[in-house]
Amino acid sequence: MNHYSIAIVGAGPAGYFTAQGLQNSQSDDRTFSIDLFERLPTMWGLVRSGVAPDHPKIKTVAKVFEKVAAEPNFRLFGNVEIGKDVDLADLTSRYDAVVMCTGSAVGRRLGIPGEDLQGSYSAAEFVPWYNGHPDFAGLNIDLSGTTAVVIGAGNVAMDCARMLAVDPTELDTTDTADHAHSTFHQSNIRKVYIAGRRGVEHAAFTAPELRDLPKLENTDVHIDANQVHEAHARAEAAGEIEKHLASNLEAWRLIAEHPKSGHARTMEFRFLSAPKEIKGNGKVEEIIFGINKVEGGKVVDTGETYSIPCSLVISAIGYEAAPIPGIVMESGKIKNVDGRVVDTNIYTVGWAKRGPSGVIGTNKSDASDVVALLIEDLGQPKEASDIAAVLSPDHQIITQDAWAKINAAEIAAGEPDGRPRVKEVSVPKLLSLGLN
Ligand code: NAP
Repeated sequence: MNHYSIAIVGAGPAGYFTAQGLQNSQSDDRTFSIDLFERLPTMWGLVRSGVAPDHPKIKTVAKVFEKVAAEPNFRLFGNVEIGKDVDLADLTSRYDAVVMCTGSAVGRRLGIPGEDLQGSYSAAEFVPWYNGHPDFAGLNIDLSGTTAVVIGAGNVAMDCARMLAVDPTELDTTDTADHAHSTFHQSNIRKVYIAGRRGVEHAAFTAPELRDLPKLENTDVHIDANQVHEAHARAEAAGEIEKHLASNLEAWRLIAEHPKSGHARTMEFRFLSAPKEIKGNGKVEEIIFGINKVEGGKVVDTGETYSIPCSLVISAIGYEAAPIPGIVMESGKIKNVDGRVVDTNIYTVGWAKRGPSGVIGTNKSDASDVVALLIEDLGQPKEASDIAAVLSPDHQIITQDAWAKINAAEIAAGEPDGRPRVKEVSVPKLLSLGLN
């Protein structure tokens, strides 16, 4: 019987699914002890700081994570930052394998003039701001203007646009961070544009998200019916329309045909619109789009432009992994072959491995694939050497018990108002909740 120690870095979906994959791979001759390291005192990664607060069902996967954490071979080391509190080499030397599940936290840049003006944000800032991530809770998002523009035709852009466009009372019974909830209540934003640089048929939105739009109670959603017809015609001309696209095109038709109620709050999709420049005197006042067209199946610039006056621009055009000391990065990801960091005992799962794609469940199959390779590579187990000895004795570790206290305190705080939880956003306060 061989007993292996595995370190996982990052307590998001990829981290928990990796732990689950290891737990499920134990056998008569192989067992694992699993230590999960997380920089923050709070767990669940994007399930906490990414998933939109008005989509609570998606967050129920946290129950699976807590089941994994309740297993006797699992230990949590929250509030422990690799590279600061512990070195990566401390992990690679002690553990039989180290699995980096650190995600992609940095927003890709548009690379256009005016991108850094006040009022221009990446979704990598705006989303964790409304979700109460301690690093972003202090952002001073100004919603005093009437018009916002979200760039990107993916589900993150959709989340950002919806959060800006719904009536804030619809967020009253959600876990939107308190600072964001009150900012949304004072918001003057009434018009939210979502701009995709290619055609309707190329959008990365998924059908369930599109089908939810006509159900919005206080927001009219607009898409030019002609753009939908043209996209349909182009897709038909290109050959048989595959299932996913057919489903999206049908959802677009329903949005276009849905009667508008004359709500002051609107969301409007603009396709074939490539961001060229954000303009303003010290802060965002206008965004210029180049008009594209589809010609011979290719998206080309017509040379024409148009402008949308606005005070807020959110770019939701994808993410890159933040650099990790001691790890080679490549194309915004950890350099890896099928999850193996070649010539090391390091592995990677999730967005850090494959880039920012797929839904939460995608990480489950990703984790089991990498766990299978990791097992293939295992030799003789290393001699046991507890990582706790490396941490300063004064350092407060958020153990599973401490996290359970934080979690319970947040849930209890939400109960009087019918909210799933009230998120604490200050690290010192979270740490003190972990002691109670
Ligand atoms: P995404 O789905 O890859 O969409 C990124 C969008 O940005 C694409 O429309 C892309 O257009 C556009 N884009 C890229 N560079 C651009 C540029 N320079 N200028 C203008 N547009 C640009 O990424 P995401 O929205 O960040 O989502 C990440 C993953 O999380 C996806 O798999 C998504 O489905 C998932 N997610 C799921 C949910 C949910 O299930 N409810 C919610 C949120 C996120 P091109 O296609 O032209 O490159």
